[in-house]
Amino acid sequence: MSRFLHPSLRSLTPYVPGEQPKAAGLIKLNTNEAPFSPPPAVREAVTSAAGRLRLYPDPESTALREALGEKLGVPRESLLMTNGSDELLYYAFLAYARNGVAFPDVTYGFYQVLADLLDCPTRILPLRQDLTVDADAFCAAPEMAVITNPNAPTGLSLPLRQIERIVRSAPDRLVLIDEAYVDFGGESAVGLTQSCDNLIVARTFSKSRALAGGRLGFGVANEAVIRELTAIKNAINPYNVNALTQAAGLACLAEDAYFTEACAALAALRDKTADTLRAMGCAVTESKANFLFVEAPGVPGETLFRRLREQNILTRYFNQPRTKDRIRVTVGTPEQMDLFIKEVGRIMEVAK
Ligand code: PMP
Repeated sequence: MSRFLHPSLRSLTPYVPGEQPKAAGLIKLNTNEAPFSPPPAVREAVTSAAGRLRLYPDPESTALREALGEKLGVPRESLLMTNGSDELLYYAFLAYARNGVAFPDVTYGFYQVLADLLDCPTRILPLRQDLTVDADAFCAAPEMAVITNPNAPTGLSLPLRQIERIVRSAPDRLVLIDEAYVDFGGESAVGLTQSCDNLIVARTFSKSRALAGGRLGFGVANEAVIRELTAIKNAINPYNVNALTQAAGLACLAEDAYFTEACAALAALRDKTADTLRAMGCAVTESKANFLFVEAPGVPGETLFRRLREQNILTRYFNQPRTKDRIRVTVGTPEQMDLFIKEVGRIMEVAK
């Protein structure tokens, strides 16, 4: 450590992203990327935008917000585009979480990292025994609430009426719903943002729009909140969404039917894979996301993760008391899922 670092950052524990391997031949089921590519029109839009790289991008992502607002049924003043939804989460924590923030014990690890970075007091509200979010506990918590829905890594989804109950239970307390995985079968709370001014919804193009490499996310909220978050964005990174990504995002929005179909096919493969694994004796949560949370009987999560890695199949293992028996596996192509199932079966056989 250098002697220049500010004392508040000396014990910083950064988020550890899933491995991004350089080696060829690995089956990458560890970071919930889409197994399908964006359609050709998206590549064409990026190529065309590359001709204007000399210029700064539109700092307000105006065309993108206009098109997205139309799609979601909200005014563009209710939208802030960001460099992945992680950037939106950072701004929201910076603006609203420093008096306190509540989130589940098993959820997206970035929340704790942000809370530590920004010195936010945290209240951890454990998931219930069945790994569902404890809506009553969130209704009672006075701090800003942060809920991933569907949750990660469980994949379990909280019904919209429960989200609405939490939001309306305390109108002076902000609720942030992270809908990174909502397009694979969850219920979106975006519609509520127009009647509830204490709600922020975070979304991303990284998963269901196959644009993880482009880094495009956004926040939906009432206009006052978006104005505040936009001011913060303009104080930190005014040109936060680059020109190529704005073009890619706009092209994605014009290809909605393609993505809706791709997400539906993925959800069907997810459910089929879950059924097969259950028939083999595995415990698999009822995922509404693009991943499964899997426990193989007699095989600790870390062992399963390592044995799969030896077979070039990358998954994710979270070494915490409530997650250590399981791995999270991204739903890939049908061929990748067949291979995954076969290897899990083999590993279970050896462990007998
Ligand atoms: N929220 C959740 C729950 C996630 O799993 C992720 C992906 N790591 C993100 C937000 C951030 O995604 P991105 O920054 O790519 O939009």
